[in-house]
Amino acid sequence: MDLNDTPEQAAYREKVRSWLEAHSAEAPAVRSTRAGAEDAGYLAARRAWQGKLAEGGLAGVTWPQEFGGQGLGPIEQVIVNQELGRAGVPGILDVIGLGMLGPCLIAHGSDEQKTRYLGPMLHGDEVWCQMFSEPAAGSDLAAVQMRAVVQDDGSFVLNGQKVWTTNAQFSSYGLVLARTNVDVPKHKGMTMFIVPMDAAGVTTRGLRQISGEAEFNEVFLDDVRIGAENVVGGVDNGWGTALTVLMFERLTIGLGSEGFGYNAARFAAALASDPVAAKDKAVRKSLGEIGTDLLALRFASYRTLSALSQGQIPGPESGLAKVTTVNAAIAAGDLIADVVGPDALNEANEWAYMISFLPGLKSAGGTEQILRNTIGERVLGLPPEPRLDKGIPFSELRAKEKEGAAV
Ligand SMILES: Cc1cc2nc3c(=O)[nH]c(=O)nc-3n(C[C@H](O)[C@H](O)[C@H](O)COP(=O)(O)OP(=O)(O)OC[C@H]3O[C@@H](n4cnc5c(N)ncnc54)[C@H](O)[C@@H]3O)c2cc1C
Repeated sequence: MDLNDTPEQAAYREKVRSWLEAHSAEAPAVRSTRAGAEDAGYLAARRAWQGKLAEGGLAGVTWPQEFGGQGLGPIEQVIVNQELGRAGVPGILDVIGLGMLGPCLIAHGSDEQKTRYLGPMLHGDEVWCQMFSEPAAGSDLAAVQMRAVVQDDGSFVLNGQKVWTTNAQFSSYGLVLARTNVDVPKHKGMTMFIVPMDAAGVTTRGLRQISGEAEFNEVFLDDVRIGAENVVGGVDNGWGTALTVLMFERLTIGLGSEGFGYNAARFAAALASDPVAAKDKAVRKSLGEIGTDLLALRFASYRTLSALSQGQIPGPESGLAKVTTVNAAIAAGDLIADVVGPDALNEANEWAYMISFLPGLKSAGGTEQILRNTIGERVLGLPPEPRLDKGIPFSELRAKEKEGAAV
C-alpha cells in the first residue's frame, strides 16, 4: 500500500490547489445541514458554488467527458475532496445526485434523458433526491409497495409513500423505485422512474429530527402521472437499476471514508485537550478505546483508498469501516455528553449537533445489523440468513401479510 501521490497525482493535486487558491474567496461558508437546509439564500449560494466547481473541473470528476465530467478515476475524486477540506470550503451541494443518481442515469438512462438531465444536475441548477425507502421497505428494499400502473397511452400513474428522502424539499427531480408487476417475485416487478418534484400529486413533508433540522422528508405520491419516457433502465428492471445506485452509494461512502475518520478524531482530540476531562481516569480509558478504533479506521480507510487507486470498487468489507466510524463517533458524542452534562445538548454548544444527529447514521447507507450480516456472509463466508420470500409472487406475500402471517 503506497500512500504517496504518483507524479501524475501530485500534478493533479497542484492543479486543483491552484484553482482553489484562485477561487476560494467566492465560496460560501461551510455550514451544517441544520443551518443550511432551510435557508434559501444559503442554498442558492451552494448551488452557484457547485456550478463554479463544475466549470473548474472539480465536480463530476469521475463522470465521462461527454457528459461534462473530467473522465478521471476515484482517486482524483479523493484528491479533490482532500483539497476542498484543506481549503476550508464546501464541496458540491448535490452529493446524492452527482455521486449516485447521475452515474445511474449514465449507466441506464436513454440518450434523451442523459442530454436533458445531466448538465443541470452537474451545475447544481437541478438538485435530485433518491426516493427508494418506504415505511415498510428499508433494509428490505425489494418490499417497496409504491404502485405504478400503466395506462392505455403508455404513461404510468404512481401512488404510494416514500420516507427518509434527503433533500426532497429543494429537489427538482426524484429517482423513484415503484412496483409495476405484483405477479412475479418481489425483486422482479419493480421499475425506476424520473419524477418531477413539482408534478401534480407530489406532496413533500419535512421530518424534523432531534438535532433540530429537517434534512429529510416523507413524500406522498397521489395519482401522479408520469410519461413512459421517464422510465430508467426498462420496465420491471428496477431492481437492477437500484443495485447500480446502491453500488455508487457504497463508492461515495468509500470516497468519504477518510473524512469520517478525521472528523471523529477531531472530536476526540478536542475532548482530550479539555483540562478537566483529561485528568479523569474513566474519561481517559474511554478516550483510549475510541482512539484505538479511530486508528484502526484510519488504516482501513487507507486500504479503501488504495483499492480505489487501483480502479477497484470497495467490496462488502468496507461496511466494517462504516460500522466502526459511526460507533466511534457516537461513543465520542456520549463521552462529551457525560463530561459536559446537560449543557452538551444546548443549541449553542458545538457538540449538540453531533450528539443528536450521529446516532441516525447507524441507519443511513445500510444499518449496522445488515452490514454485519453482509460481512458475515460475503467476507467471512458464514451461512446466509434464511429467506422465506424466495420465488413467491409479491401479491401472495402481501396476501399473507394481510392475514397476519410473517413474511
Ligand atoms: C440520515 C439518513 C438519510 C437517508 N436518506 C435516504 C434517502 O435520501 N433516500 C432513501 O431512499 N432512503 C434514505 N434513508 C433511509 C435508509 O436507507 C434506511 O434508513 C435504511 O435502509 C434502513 O431502513 P429502515 O430505516 O426502514 O429500518 P428497518 O429496515 O426497518 O430496520 C429496523 C431495524 O431492524 C434491523 N433489521 C432489519 N432487517 C434485519 C435483518 N434481516 N437482520 C437483522 N436485523 C435487521 C435493522 O438493522 C434496524 O436496526 C436515509 C436514512 C438516514 C438515517
